[in-house]
Amino acid sequence: MAVDAIRDAIKDVVDFPKEGIVFKDITPVLRSEKLFEEAIDLLVAPYMDSPPDCVVGIESRGFIFGSAMALRLGTGFVPIRKKGKLPRETFEESYELEYGEATIEIHRDALKPGERAVLVDDLLATGGTARAALGLLERLGVEVVGVDFLVELTFLNGRERLSGYPVNALIAFD
Ligand code: AMP
Repeated sequence: MAVDAIRDAIKDVVDFPKEGIVFKDITPVLRSEKLFEEAIDLLVAPYMDSPPDCVVGIESRGFIFGSAMALRLGTGFVPIRKKGKLPRETFEESYELEYGEATIEIHRDALKPGERAVLVDDLLATGGTARAALGLLERLGVEVVGVDFLVELTFLNGRERLSGYPVNALIAFD
């Protein structure tokens, strides 16, 4: 099955970027034209009948999957970026990392209130990043019709922090 082939292609990198973390390297999925296309087909499948107005991707691997999904769905793409990268007026949200804090931003005029958006990142870990991204979309008054990930690390319970939203992950590691 396509999902199994994608799962097999994801490589575990132990102690990266620091000790105790098992990093899920998705770059072999991108390198394979077959697996990359299958991953995008699976990610867009729930939305083909009723495409959203826009796909929103979280920097930086969310840009890769999100922009490919947007092309498949015939929608535009909005980037959520790390602080200091977007040139015009933004909303920002800060969230806790294991060490310290991170801030992400979205352009204030990126989406109109009531527009339907799909939020995408490559991987759901603790859910802090996606929760902050949803905070940005809430401030824009956007209707989030799905929150999509290629990979979910179920043992970190990130999904609990996104309760109330329709969360989809192609592959779960537990
Ligand atoms: P979190 O906010 O904890 O859900 O972390 C999600 C973000 O950190 C995503 O953008 C992931 O790309 C990245 N990330 C966190 N943990 C891992 C991991 N074990 N392997 C690869 N990426 C990770």
